[in-house]
Amino acid sequence: MCNNFNKKFLDEAAKALENQDSKSNFSDADYMNEAVKAALKGIIANEGGPFGCVIVKNGEIIGRGNNKVTSTNDPTAHAEITAIREACKHLNSFQLEGCIIYTSCEPCPMCLGAIYWARPEKVYFGCNQQDAADIGFDDEFIYKEIDLDYQNRSIPFEQLARNQALEPFKKWQEKEDKIKY
Ligand SMILES: [Zn+2]
Repeated sequence: MCNNFNKKFLDEAAKALENQDSKSNFSDADYMNEAVKAALKGIIANEGGPFGCVIVKNGEIIGRGNNKVTSTNDPTAHAEITAIREACKHLNSFQLEGCIIYTSCEPCPMCLGAIYWARPEKVYFGCNQQDAADIGFDDEFIYKEIDLDYQNRSIPFEQLARNQALEPFKKWQEKEDKIKY
């Protein structure tokens, strides 16, 4: 009885070690496969578009996300954003220092911006922009919008009450105990 218990315990410990080993031995392609798996899982669960992402630090997956736009009524719930939120929560930090992002598709302009703000070490992407455009996820027009004059954008932009809006900027500059980022 006692021996059986010990054997079971040892077997489980060995298994745990094995798992840990395979985890740290993950190759970049293995992490990308995890991102792809997240995308597939999201499709099956009807959570949103076919996109997945994992964020890795020191070999450990600390953030995992898939597109949840339609299921959460959140146009910003892209896979990368979802994963960044989870990873930052895990790290208790607003920076993804030393992290690597594996995303199943080249990031859209919103996620590209979010990635730059989060400052990871590197980004690997699976499909590219063209692959996404081919199945109806074309974000090239957003890049084109950036260079257009405000009034020529498909959503017109107009400046309003600049002086009023500058007030928080002045306060920020004067603030001595601000957390810079
Ligand atoms: Zn995106």
